[in-house]
Amino acid sequence: MPRFRAILDTMPAYKPGKAVTSPDGRSYKLSSNESPYDPLPSVVEAIAEGAGQVNRYPDPAAVKLTEAIAERHGVPFGHVALGPGSVTVAQELFATVGEPGAEVVYAWRSFEAYPLLADLAGVRSVRVPLKGEDHDLDAMAEAITGRTRMVFVCNPNNPTSTAIRTRQLVAFLDRVPEDVLVVLDEAYREYVRDADVPDGLTLYRDRPNVCVLRTFSKAYGLAGLRVGYLIGHEPVAAAVRKVIVPFAVNHLAQVAAIASLEAEAELMERVETVVKERSRVREALIAQGWEVPPTEANFVWLRLGERTMDFAAACAASGVAVRPFAGEGARVSIGAPEENDAFLEAAQRFMAGSASG
Ligand SMILES: *Cc1c(COP(=O)(O)O)cnc(C)c1O
Repeated sequence: MPRFRAILDTMPAYKPGKAVTSPDGRSYKLSSNESPYDPLPSVVEAIAEGAGQVNRYPDPAAVKLTEAIAERHGVPFGHVALGPGSVTVAQELFATVGEPGAEVVYAWRSFEAYPLLADLAGVRSVRVPLKGEDHDLDAMAEAITGRTRMVFVCNPNNPTSTAIRTRQLVAFLDRVPEDVLVVLDEAYREYVRDADVPDGLTLYRDRPNVCVLRTFSKAYGLAGLRVGYLIGHEPVAAAVRKVIVPFAVNHLAQVAAIASLEAEAELMERVETVVKERSRVREALIAQGWEVPPTEANFVWLRLGERTMDFAAACAASGVAVRPFAGEGARVSIGAPEENDAFLEAAQRFMAGSASG
């Protein structure tokens, strides 16, 4: 047997959202926060055209896409670094700052990739418990030590859906030492509607130790193609570009992302529909008797505790896949109206069952 790294035995496995099918053949996937919409025809066309060139390696520097992103956000070209999904960009960040013995601070529960990536990099995870469903930024600031190299702030937070407000985040950033990299993971930024939830791209400008992660996987509907990016100051972006595996962002992902930026207005109309559905779903759940934290993302969070796995099983029996975290709660993506109706029906039935049983 080859000798493997000991950490592999203790690493948590990433549990992707699964699809389920009800006995009568219904299947609604509300477990991965994907866009419920098929790709736009213009995006499919760009991919089809790009398919004719896949005998060639992709542009290693993804110049056209990098330019499009820089222009879209009004940032310098050199502030953008791409990766095959923002999870991979996060992994690259660990490769840039994560010496063995270093520490990374993040809220818990938050995005489940953080502990995995930390373990892989040999970086010690310092998990700061949520306060209610929110980041406890004071406790996170206090958790920073001389060994801390990086802090993740997931805003809005996956899976609890809550968002940090401007005053709190600015006060936190002011407390973080300048040699500690703060990563604002904004995978759900396009779904934020509260004007007091800060845009990381505003906050990073005069803070060289702050960077922002964005992705084409959620609002832009390209989860299957894997493309995400970082925006940060030149040294941060350059460090990421240095550690990226050559040709990591494939040609089809590059052309599809460019086409998606060109079709942004259409895509943001879809996001608006999801946001409206989010309000409808949350209000309906509250009317059913559920406690649902305010959500600024394309999902809702139900803190079910010990009932979590029963709830997930009940939803699965109705053909609705949710994302359970055993003993804690379930995250449910906002889908198309029909999917949301199926979920609301399952939630209602579960609530009625718990009330009578
Ligand atoms: C979905 C998600 C991402 C995006 O991952 P990709 O690798 O870009 O698909 C990043 N961060 C968080 C918190 C997410 O929920």
